[in-house]
Amino acid sequence: MGTEHTYDYDFIIIGSGFGGAASALRLSEKGYKVLVMEKGKWYKAEDFPKTNWNLKRWLWMPFVKFHGFFKITFFRHVATLSGVGVGGGSLVYANTLPIPKSSFFKSDSWAHLADWEEELKPFYQTALRMMGAVKNEALKTGDLALKKLAEEIGKSESYSPTNVAVFFGEPEVTVPDPYFGGEGPERAGCTLCAGCMVGCRYNAKNTLDKNYLYLAQKNGVKIQAESLVYDVLPLNGDTGNSGYEVKWKSSTKIIKKKGSIKARNIIFAGGALGSIKLLLGLKKKSLPNLSDQLGMGIRTNSESLIGITAFDKETVFSEGVAIGSIVHTDEHSHLEPVRYPAGSGFWRVLMTPLVFGGSIFTRIFKIIKDYILHPWDNLRAYFVRDWAKHTQILLFMQSLDSTLRFSKGLFGMKTSVTKGKRPTSFIPEAEELAQKYAKIVNGKATSLLTETMLGIPTTAHILGGAVMGKDISEGVIDKDNHVFGYKNMYICDGSAISANPGVNPSLSILAITERAMSKIPEKAKNSAPLSRELAH
Ligand SMILES: Cc1cc2nc3c(=O)[nH]c(=O)nc-3n(C[C@H](O)[C@H](O)[C@H](O)COP(=O)(O)OP(=O)(O)OC[C@H]3O[C@@H](n4cnc5c(N)ncnc54)[C@H](O)[C@@H]3O)c2cc1C
Repeated sequence: MGTEHTYDYDFIIIGSGFGGAASALRLSEKGYKVLVMEKGKWYKAEDFPKTNWNLKRWLWMPFVKFHGFFKITFFRHVATLSGVGVGGGSLVYANTLPIPKSSFFKSDSWAHLADWEEELKPFYQTALRMMGAVKNEALKTGDLALKKLAEEIGKSESYSPTNVAVFFGEPEVTVPDPYFGGEGPERAGCTLCAGCMVGCRYNAKNTLDKNYLYLAQKNGVKIQAESLVYDVLPLNGDTGNSGYEVKWKSSTKIIKKKGSIKARNIIFAGGALGSIKLLLGLKKKSLPNLSDQLGMGIRTNSESLIGITAFDKETVFSEGVAIGSIVHTDEHSHLEPVRYPAGSGFWRVLMTPLVFGGSIFTRIFKIIKDYILHPWDNLRAYFVRDWAKHTQILLFMQSLDSTLRFSKGLFGMKTSVTKGKRPTSFIPEAEELAQKYAKIVNGKATSLLTETMLGIPTTAHILGGAVMGKDISEGVIDKDNHVFGYKNMYICDGSAISANPGVNPSLSILAITERAMSKIPEKAKNSAPLSRELAH
């Protein structure tokens, strides 16, 4: 018999993004004592930067003491954008919450495990309600141009305003909680400043700290911010029957405070980047029984990001919500206009003319040719007074499958190609649509240097790495998010997404987490007490 342990918590959740927040609320409703550990900071509306030129407040780069909420990570095959802070990606995301098409639920990679479309249906509805998602009411310049493009390509019926997690109300007017019968926080109406991705300074964006996490805290959930979890050890050296010890250290202080906490159950919810990095390290020491599939099945939405800078001063894109509309351009593809608020023109420094295909030398040649053939257009696009105000970013996404693998490299994680073609930013349909859009708004199409020069696509939707399977040889978790090889351990975040949704994924992460939590029974009345000093 191993040692009897007392626990500080029933559940420790690592990460406070979509998966972590939904887990915290549902477990607290079932009577469990829950701790959420988050490496990023707490944010109040006034803490967000006015523009993304305030790099110290915007970017998460702790090695240079930038403790913002937006993280850029470069790999060989993909550059990823993600959120850090209490609320995870919801702090930086563009509020758009689409339900994927049937092809996602029927994808070979996971369709044999459940009738996902049917099973997840009620959980999508719960997630939409919790996030206060409504049809975007404010169609602005970029959306109207997309509508025109949809007409031109014969896809008018596939164009629609997005579902967005925004409180519209009266601009800047604060009202009592409009969502949870008075149990939630006060909210203020959206000013349509387009600042969603630089952090909402008006308390209008329905980030997770205003719904799931807020209500979870009311139920007694503790959120410990600025704490990076670096080890999870099964107690008694078994496979989780006796619970776990979680080790953490301060993520923002020069002198690193450290601590360790015991819990019966663990939920990894650090997002595809955070959870997989942590788990790959743990598989080598504390959790060797994890599936060899760990790190496999990394997917993006096969995105392409293209900027269109308008030449006319009157064409202003920085009004509305960050993503106001969507068009399904074919069975597998979607296009959304994405915008930043006036003044937030950081991305300008990385833009080059949009060129496609070939080797890096061909593309450099094409860029130089573009500068020579269109000097005036290039000058106007790069030296436009307010880049964000006059630039519409087009986000093209496809549900076609190709997967990468994350594995441990010399400097953190590295990527390799496993299935299908490597993700690419050179998607001919995306280029064609972007050039048509540029014509409509009289502008110049540009793309990120990393995409045009290095051919590395950028994704804000990095998914997978701990995918579902029927057993440990096929997946890291089962269809209810239990980790194979260990007891009392779950993964609930983007890393559990086991097919390409082809659209923005946060709603699907919520729905899958809601389903997983619905399978956990209420806390038994006669379960052993938690440790005395923390239980009261
Ligand atoms: C600019 C941008 C715009 C986007 N727009 C949209 C959109 O409109 N719609 C949409 O659906 N999606 C959007 N996304 C994607 C969305 O943000 C992510 O898909 C989503 O946040 C992933 O949720 P998650 O639960 O997997 O984890 P996350 O939300 O990424 O949260 C994980 C949290 O865990 C923390 N963490 C990680 N490791 C550790 C550790 N070891 N210890 C402690 N804490 C840890 C991280 O700091 C983070 O806060 C956007 C993303 C970006 C970057």
